Amino acid sequence: MIFLDNVSKIYSETATALKGITLRIKPKEFVSLVGPSGSGKTTLFKLLIREEDPSEGKIFFEDVDITGMAAKDLPYLRRRVGRVFQDYRLLPMKNTFENVAFAMEAAGKTKEEIEHDVPQVLELVGLADKSNNFPHELSGGESQRVAIARALVNRPDVILADEPTGNLDPTNTWDIIRLLEKINELGTTVMLATHDKEVIDSLGRRVVALEKGEVIRDEKKGKYEE
Ligand code: ADP
Ligand code: MG
Repeated sequence: MIFLDNVSKIYSETATALKGITLRIKPKEFVSLVGPSGSGKTTLFKLLIREEDPSEGKIFFEDVDITGMAAKDLPYLRRRVGRVFQDYRLLPMKNTFENVAFAMEAAGKTKEEIEHDVPQVLELVGLADKSNNFPHELSGGESQRVAIARALVNRPDVILADEPTGNLDPTNTWDIIRLLEKINELGTTVMLATHDKEVIDSLGRRVVALEKGEVIRDEKKGKYEE
């Protein structure tokens, strides 16, 4: 469970990104975070992995107050949370297998575990046949599926997907959204930040709407707009 207790983030006098956010996210939920550019979606994700510290308030992850977490415990937190970005962020000199394997190496997994788990997760995202391809040999949709495989391979509790379909055409957008739904059905909490109205309106899931750093709406089966 994730609990944000009255969280604010003030970058500077002129940049308040989040104001008094209180939010509870249950295990295995699929939550969309919507709102225009600048409304605070990315900042909220950064706070959840302690890439930024809140200016006020506390954030709990499974009852642990991560705002007070020691630096030595942060790698553990970050392995519990997988992240996916709009621009994929693949390593250009590594092929599909190696891009995913790299996340396991960084987590200290053995060669045997890597040989076992990487093909499984590539199968799950539908890329078993692209294992040897390099990023420049992949389409946008395929690249994003590699990025999702990499985010998943250490079996995180939560996936934070920040505008994951922002660079994709409608067909690939739907493939990625369906993949996120499948991952959620398999038991991973998914938080999806997007300003794609069509995606949100067809998902029929919980929607938390941000505006200028405040939650203006939180609905169980929400739409993009009221
Ligand atoms: P979103 O992801 O919804 O577009 P962001 O969280 O990126 O929103 O940004 C929220 C607000 O915080 C914006 O006004 C943005 O300019 C500001 N902001 C984000 N990151 C920084 C930063 N590192 N330093 C100063 N201001 C920032
Ligand atoms: Mg953003």
